Amino acid sequence: MARFIFITGGVVSSLGKGLASAALGALLQARGFSVRLRKLDPYLNVDPGTMSPFEHGEVFVTDDGAETDLDLGHYERFTGVAARKTDSVSSGRIYSNVLEKERRGDYLGKTIQVIPHVTNEIKDFIAIGEDEVDFMLCEIGGTVGDIEGLPFFEAIRQFSQDRPRGQCIFMHLTLLPFIKASGELKTKPTQHSVKELRSIGLAPDILVCRSEGPIPEKERAKLALFCNVRPEAVIAAQDLPTIYDAPLAYHREGLDQAVLDAFQISPAPRPDLTKWEDVSDRIHNPEGEVKVAIVGKYVQLEDAYKSIREALTHGGMANRVGVEVEWVDAEIFDTQDPAACLEGFHAILVPGGFGERGTEGKIKAAQFARERKVPYLGICLGMQMAVIEAARNVAGLKDAGSEEFDHEAGRKRFEPVVYHLKEWVQGNYTVQRALGDDKGGTMRLGAYSAVLSEGSKVAGVYGATQIEERHRHRYEVDNRYRDKLEQVGLKFSGMSPDGRLPEIVEWADHPWFIGVQFHPELKSKPFAPHPLFADFIRAAKETSRLV
Ligand code: GLN
Repeated sequence: MARFIFITGGVVSSLGKGLASAALGALLQARGFSVRLRKLDPYLNVDPGTMSPFEHGEVFVTDDGAETDLDLGHYERFTGVAARKTDSVSSGRIYSNVLEKERRGDYLGKTIQVIPHVTNEIKDFIAIGEDEVDFMLCEIGGTVGDIEGLPFFEAIRQFSQDRPRGQCIFMHLTLLPFIKASGELKTKPTQHSVKELRSIGLAPDILVCRSEGPIPEKERAKLALFCNVRPEAVIAAQDLPTIYDAPLAYHREGLDQAVLDAFQISPAPRPDLTKWEDVSDRIHNPEGEVKVAIVGKYVQLEDAYKSIREALTHGGMANRVGVEVEWVDAEIFDTQDPAACLEGFHAILVPGGFGERGTEGKIKAAQFARERKVPYLGICLGMQMAVIEAARNVAGLKDAGSEEFDHEAGRKRFEPVVYHLKEWVQGNYTVQRALGDDKGGTMRLGAYSAVLSEGSKVAGVYGATQIEERHRHRYEVDNRYRDKLEQVGLKFSGMSPDGRLPEIVEWADHPWFIGVQFHPELKSKPFAPHPLFADFIRAAKETSRLV
């Protein structure tokens, strides 16, 4: 039976609860325990799949095809445990389940209420698969005191009451602001936040306090006294140069020990932190640097491409180089010559995206990379743009484009080299889609296999000809253009197992130009960099030697 750790936040949002949870998961693993991490989000969207990246940041896709919160990306990157559909839930999903049951008549005529029906639904969710692991870490999104979070807080309170004493603990993450004028770290907001928690029946066992510097003894004692936690359970979480220092930093501060103490696990197994020491060493001691341009649409918000940014860092770690990223707004190429901007970069990445805005700029970036032989990695939309570029500028199909943009504009303008995928095979059955379908959860989502051509560049990169990667798209490169494009040198080097869906393209006579229909960034880890990112950065490193 698992032990449960509930992680809540107070004072302000964006304190890095997800990261703290992920780092704690990694530390428990380092002590030999198995873990699973879970996120409960109070917003009313059924999942973040329909939200704009500007609202929510990246949508993280699991192998089993769930569109989830980006914190699940942190969980996977730190623990290596593949997240599942059942590791992310929102109020919207909970309410929609409850209402579905109500319509079916499952509640046998009862009045449906937040307590107990909504809270029971949340509790059932928390317990899914509990027998599989030693520790289940459940993070509650938002901040204590938010109206919409209340059912979740009530549910975890009940959950810990339903269980034997000692099976659940509560960890609360807060901020200690530093007031320059008086030179003090202030504990009052944390005291208030804990008071708020206690007013709804939750008492934290551990306080994790974000602060710019160390917590002086006096403040630590004050926090312990007023918040009713042990002084050793007040953990300082100082700002760090890189997120990958978090496991070691939290360990030094005693977080994992405090957790084991709270569960009265004694003697505590000794941690093996060599993996994280190696990660830290690679990140802090690079032997050079490469410059990569990410030409995208959501460049004002780095969180929109969170996993890509992290995967590039991992690629750098594999090659012992730092990766400096510059975010380039694709729309500037509508008016500016891309060469002026893109010269000087050692590699170019065009990420995924939706809608037509900025796509002409991405096509120009792909053209620049092809012509100048600069390493190029096109991900999802970035692959589609590379194919359109090849069709227009090399294969002579001047009107080549994507049906996505015609659908958006409501009229036909392009020759659909990229078309709306209406039918595909998933496992043993055929999925069907129509243009007027609901938007939520209807893309080609989750893990699908691909078969790579023997001798292709990409088969060399993977060291395999059978791979499985995660997808999230509605449109697809049309295989009917394969011959035309292969004749001019753009090889379709990865296909779906039935041979119908192009998964990977590569230019045969280019040092490193690969487009993939899937999202390799979602599977990269600091201790196991994704081969595509590792090799992309290797190629960038080679380019950096030439210039
Ligand atoms: N908009 C494109 C599609 O739906 C690409 C999606 C993506 O880049 N994730 O196919």
